[in-house]
Amino acid sequence: MDDLPPLRDVIAEHGLSARKALGQNFLLDLNLTAKIARMAGSLHDHDVLEIGPGPGGLTRGLLSEGARRVVAVEKDARCLPALQEIAAAYPGRLEVLNADALDIDPGAHLTPPIRIAANLPYNVGTELLVRWLTPPDWPPFWDSLTLMFQKEVAQRIVAAPGSKAYGRLAILAQWRTDAEIVMELPPQAFSPPPKVHSAVVHLTALAEPRFPADAKTLEMVVAKAFNQRRKMLRAALKGLRPDIEDRLIAAGIAPTDRAEQVDLERFCALSRAMDG
Ligand code: SAM
Repeated sequence: MDDLPPLRDVIAEHGLSARKALGQNFLLDLNLTAKIARMAGSLHDHDVLEIGPGPGGLTRGLLSEGARRVVAVEKDARCLPALQEIAAAYPGRLEVLNADALDIDPGAHLTPPIRIAANLPYNVGTELLVRWLTPPDWPPFWDSLTLMFQKEVAQRIVAAPGSKAYGRLAILAQWRTDAEIVMELPPQAFSPPPKVHSAVVHLTALAEPRFPADAKTLEMVVAKAFNQRRKMLRAALKGLRPDIEDRLIAAGIAPTDRAEQVDLERFCALSRAMDG
């Protein structure tokens, strides 16, 4: 794979004791990180944006699997010396940015086509995913996202109508990407092990949204509908338009339906009916 030391030694040498506040659960098995890197698809002709490289397990997987370049954004400055050793082993192919991924625009550091890969803490991961799925223009700056989540969040991304997991995240993801769970990992795959199981989700950007709709209207309608998911839609959406029942019917939705019964196609139809 590479001539760098095993990750356990890297962590010991650089004193990278895991910090809970930064959601640090490290992957130590380089065969596993290479496998996750392969889930991202062909990397030879892509720049890869990695968020939260930590001691660099996934970073090494991405580079050994042939990524053209990796730009890695890490908040914890303690990880920088370990990451610099990886940069030295792969000359000209790894750039490390010591920053909070929520504060920076890494686009300037990358050349398309771009893939994103990350094993991130849950709260940061969901927030970044929503940002990546809701850019001002589509297609976005990335071709695909390969992201580790806690399994329950992964299930929300790929959920079908009628299930408890179905909601805003499923609609935002499935409207403009193909999303699938490509790997499940038990807590013991990480050090320290988290309390819950994890899963890798791979999302591929579609050239066009699956159904026409204005992004802002769709986001607003879906947020409102699922905010009160147990209410009938005529009640949950009452404040939006005085004639909401007519607009629901125009979109093929019964006003007595609840949000979780409505599929993506009909949410898009409702967004168009709202704008009509
Ligand atoms: N990628 C490594 C791996 O798989 O072993 C580390 C994964 S660990 C779950 C999450 C990493 O994200 C940590 O290294 C942590 O310091 C970093 N991190 C947490 N919040 C961050 C943020 N807002 N911006 C950038 N990195 C962050």
